[in-house]
Amino acid sequence: LANAKADNLPQAWYRTGQDESHQRELTLIRDLPQALDSGQFSVVFQPKVDIVARRCRAAEALIRWQHPTLGFVSPMEFITLAERTGNISLISNWMLQQVIRQLASWQQLHPQVAVAVNLSAADLLDDALPARILAALAEAAVPVSALTLEVTESAVMQDASRAIANLKVLKQAGIKLAIDDFGTGQSSLAYLKNLPVHEVKIDRAFIKDIEHNQQDALIVQATAQLAGGLGLTVTAEGLENHAGLSRVLDAGCQQVQGYYFAKPLSAKDFSQWLQDFATQGERFFPPAVDPA
Ligand code: C2E
Ligand code: MG
Ligand code: MG
Ligand code: MG
Repeated sequence: LANAKADNLPQAWYRTGQDESHQRELTLIRDLPQALDSGQFSVVFQPKVDIVARRCRAAEALIRWQHPTLGFVSPMEFITLAERTGNISLISNWMLQQVIRQLASWQQLHPQVAVAVNLSAADLLDDALPARILAALAEAAVPVSALTLEVTESAVMQDASRAIANLKVLKQAGIKLAIDDFGTGQSSLAYLKNLPVHEVKIDRAFIKDIEHNQQDALIVQATAQLAGGLGLTVTAEGLENHAGLSRVLDAGCQQVQGYYFAKPLSAKDFSQWLQDFATQGERFFPPAVDPA
């Protein structure tokens, strides 16, 4: 009996760990819908910097969840759960509403800034979404050019013809589209010509070590050359340091989004950051070569 107990110990311990994470999942799934109405979610904005013009005219909106007992919960964790449980449209609609409201209030101070919202696969299959987005923009008197939507290729691929039809409606209305996390999953450069996109975001996996890794540098260069040749804006995601900036510039990327320039910021801090960047942004860049 004593032996049998000892044998059971590791298994019991394992089961406890599993129960805990299962419990956490259930809590998050249960609390998500009401959390949207009770002020636990917020939106942060991360600048996308045009490294050629040395200006910032874009940002990505990212969701944040401060849970009353669990504290900060990463979107990597709860977005996946929301997708699995069919709740992602609640999040997407909430984000679109918040971002459009923010864009409306920025029309005076920052009319040039376009903000990107992430959409999931289920959103792309919702045939009513394009009209809903356009109506919300019109109601808030926000120009369609102020909104970008970010989608991954794998989200498009779940039902490509339907997703592409919906994306085309949005693009024809003037909303910009970005392919997110490019280079991961089943990304294919050739496929880009079939998608109604205007921006390709090269995944952080290829950017984070670009100053040390020649293979990453070559992949980024080839991607930037082809996507740029197709007339698309190429954004490098997740750049953290100055050495990498020279590499992504050399590779032909036009935009950078990463901690090097700024972490995701509250709306107020982003607005301040934009003003600081407009006046003191040069310090981020390599000194200009004197042609004399
Ligand atoms: P994403 O759309 O690829 O967003 C970029 C993520 O990279 C963000 O993480 C951002 O904070 C992070 N990041 C940016 N620059 C750097 C850097 O220099 N270093 C590092 N280490 N990270 C950097 P975050 O906010 O945790 O979001 C993770 C993912 O969750 C997003 O990846 C997106 O797939 C999803 N997500 C976030 N907000 C939303 C949302 O509102 N809706 C949907 N559907 N998904 C969202
Ligand atoms: Mg994104
Ligand atoms: Mg990404
Ligand atoms: Mg991602």
